Amino acid sequence: MRFSQLLIPTLKEDPSEAEVISHKLLLRAGYIRKLTSGSYTYLPLGLAAIRKVEQIVREEMNLAGAQEILMPMVQPADLWQESGRWQVYGKELLRFQDRHNRDFCLGPTHEEVVTDLARMNIHSYKHLPMNLYQIQTKYRDEARPRFGLMRGREFIMKDGYSFDATDQGAELTYEKMKTAYHRIFNRCGLSFRAVDADSGSIGGSFSHEFMVLAETGEDTIVVCPSCSYAANMEKATCQMSSASDAITLKEIEKVETPGKRKVQVVCDFLNIKASELVKTLVYVVKDEVIAVLLRGDHEVEDIKLANILGISDEDMRLADDKEIFDATGTPSGYLGPIGLKIRLVADQEVASMSNFVVGANEKNFHLRNVNMNRDFTPTISGDIRKVTSRDRCLACGSELELTKGIEVGHIFKLGTKYSTALKATFLDDQGAETPFIMGCYGIGVSRVVAAAIEQHHDKDGIKFPVAIAPVKVLVLNLSPKDLEISQAAEEIYENLRKENIEVILDDRDERPGIKFNDADLIGIPFRITVGKSFSKDGTIEVRRRSDGETFTLSPADTISTVADLIKKAMA
Ligand code: ATP
Ligand code: MG
Repeated sequence: MRFSQLLIPTLKEDPSEAEVISHKLLLRAGYIRKLTSGSYTYLPLGLAAIRKVEQIVREEMNLAGAQEILMPMVQPADLWQESGRWQVYGKELLRFQDRHNRDFCLGPTHEEVVTDLARMNIHSYKHLPMNLYQIQTKYRDEARPRFGLMRGREFIMKDGYSFDATDQGAELTYEKMKTAYHRIFNRCGLSFRAVDADSGSIGGSFSHEFMVLAETGEDTIVVCPSCSYAANMEKATCQMSSASDAITLKEIEKVETPGKRKVQVVCDFLNIKASELVKTLVYVVKDEVIAVLLRGDHEVEDIKLANILGISDEDMRLADDKEIFDATGTPSGYLGPIGLKIRLVADQEVASMSNFVVGANEKNFHLRNVNMNRDFTPTISGDIRKVTSRDRCLACGSELELTKGIEVGHIFKLGTKYSTALKATFLDDQGAETPFIMGCYGIGVSRVVAAAIEQHHDKDGIKFPVAIAPVKVLVLNLSPKDLEISQAAEEIYENLRKENIEVILDDRDERPGIKFNDADLIGIPFRITVGKSFSKDGTIEVRRRSDGETFTLSPADTISTVADLIKKAMA
């Protein structure tokens, strides 16, 4: 491939619409172009990088015993009605009608379609386990498409689904997929962690997310530096931090707190720590207004709260001041649990606190020395708060660390959720009709490319890991008008091709400075320069993009040296 003929529209400046580095570099280096919000065209380099990731995914999935299929992207509503998700999936599901006014959607995921496939075609335990996957464009009408390939509305996903006859079998399949995922992300050159993830209403620890560690990640992950514990913030637990020593419970005391509404302001005024106050937040859950209690210095983790309420976090939000006043008769800032006539959800740590401060349900007043179970009883109590970096690991007691991660993969033991809903059964070895035990396994293929750039770049551009770089070598012909140099560059280019080493020849009639800059920007792992030194002493320079190391070689040694360097980098 010749640079002069390829569509690689590099840009000098950072595009203003891009916030994160991978988005900036993918645009600047001519890998992608935006069509509309969250939809991108993959240009030759972008598509080549995606194909590399796909190939690694394919090899590892096949090795783990999965089979590739390709399901339709357009899915009939009937199946989603059968699973019950037509009503609950919300606005991310792009729905439309065909010419006969029948409802359809663009597939954001394929549990329904694959379960339908299984119920029609797998009838006996003898055909189990079965593990099917596809690599396909998915559509999700994301509320906030952003960061380029990181959160698109249209993006490429590998989605896999397994069917097992027994629970043990399903767990074995799950473990196989976990191993395959470790291999895939290692081969992609990513630094990542598998973390315990929220598995919604299903429970158990049968969900892991694969997180690429990067500042720009949208997820917060909690990691123990001393043991193997790692979890998504949505799921993370920690030791209780409140002391529950036998303390004398004091009499409630009403105190005037004129105009003091915010936690810190109330605490300063009363000269107490935020950990000695219990705040009362108000949420609207579907159509109901509820109160949520937690220690003043803690924050609600919405997913945990949604889980103990048995709803989706999309169905709840913080109430506004008017809704708070209408539901409680008290202006926000002075709310407390005593005498409140709405459902009360308390974080588990409130139970171990004593003699704390709460709002008095009266403007300008708070109460001191309040105690749960003596003065009020919550409707529900449980772990609903976010872990902080001051908290300690439940397993080993070390102080936990919080870091940011980009979710590139997610594996999930589904159980019989979909097979029961869609009546997808097989005959077990006793001849009994049994629902399949399912698992599902996703990888954000296009997101992997963005995540790799977040981890591998410098101020000049991308530094692609060798395994997923669009091509391995870029040959720069620094003087296309010089016959000798051009011939040497052409020869190296041809010899690399003969060795099946993917290469682009920069044959453009441009200044060397432009070629060097573009080479750094597009981030091809090895750059071979044929220029003045070749005319002078017949040498060629090979430069490794990852660390800038250069090698001065004769043309005869160049090909084998580069081949060796590539081999080493991929080992
Ligand atoms: P997120 O929490 O980031 O929205 P998700 O939990 O909705 O992800 P899954 O349904 O598990 O994601 O999808 C499988 C994989 O697809 C994810 O691990 C992620 O890598 C990728 N993915 C999900 N949504 C997007 C998107 N909008 N753009 C690009 N990749 C995505
Ligand atoms: Mg999502």
